[in-house]
Amino acid sequence: MRRPPVGWFTGSLVRATSLTDSARSLTFSVPGWPGNLAGQHVDLRLTASDGYQATRSYSIASVGPDTDVELAVERLPDGEVSPFLVDDLEVGDSVELRGPLGGWFVWRPEHPEPVQLIAGGSGVVPLLAMTRAHTDARSTVPMQLLYSLRTPEDALYRDELQQRSSTTPTTWHYTRTVPPGWTRAAGRLTPDDLRSATLPPERGPLTFVCGPTGFVETVARGLIDLGHQPDSIRTERFGGI
Ligand SMILES: Cc1cc2nc3c(=O)[nH]c(=O)nc-3n(C[C@H](O)[C@H](O)[C@H](O)COP(=O)(O)OP(=O)(O)OC[C@H]3O[C@@H](n4cnc5c(N)ncnc54)[C@H](O)[C@@H]3O)c2cc1C
Repeated sequence: MRRPPVGWFTGSLVRATSLTDSARSLTFSVPGWPGNLAGQHVDLRLTASDGYQATRSYSIASVGPDTDVELAVERLPDGEVSPFLVDDLEVGDSVELRGPLGGWFVWRPEHPEPVQLIAGGSGVVPLLAMTRAHTDARSTVPMQLLYSLRTPEDALYRDELQQRSSTTPTTWHYTRTVPPGWTRAAGRLTPDDLRSATLPPERGPLTFVCGPTGFVETVARGLIDLGHQPDSIRTERFGGI
């Protein structure tokens, strides 16, 4: 079936909520938005008064037919667009949004396989949408999240993920600083971490991995080394190294 062409929409910022010191969730009212699946993203375009334009991709945290579209943006200190979105965009301001984009990095409630989600940093955004879709559909398919982040303060949507822990348990992993009393030392995910915190290949999970490019590539390789089939691993790279 042919999909309708993806168009540009005008989104007006209706809500902005601080998630951490360096990240904000931004909800845009987007008249005409066709709704989106869990895992899809948008292109967001800013136009300066002199006509200069900058476009970046952002995953959609919201899911379903609603015309409110929620994004979550983390500030990269030297970035061009993300500091503006996190620090300067005000309620009532407009941006252009093109989407919804992406058909592969998508979880649908009809998928029968158990689901393993693996996030690095802000890569949790499309995976959060998958946990929301799982809840909305009252899915009984097992779904669990492994969330790797630098420090406890960097967690996006911690309260919401904890509230959902009975249906979508989260394993937290810290690479730089751990919370008081944490038994595991800070450090990068090791093959043992991956083995112990993810569904094993024998259960035939569908695995979604999202985050900075280096994180995604390391995790995907680690999963294949554990015996997962490459076509059971879906990846989304946010950029960087
Ligand atoms: C499909 C897709 C979905 C995305 N979803 C999100 C999202 O939900 N939330 C979000 O905050 N970002 C997301 N990104 C990243 C986003 O598109 C921008 O790259 C990011 O906001 C930086 O833009 P900037 O203009 O501030 O930095 P730029 O000026 O474009 O780049 C600054 C430098 O940072 C590097 N860089 C870019 N992204 C990262 C990263 N993630 N980690 C480390 N270094 C990086 C660039 O390679 C460059 O060297 C997504 C990217 C893709 C491709």
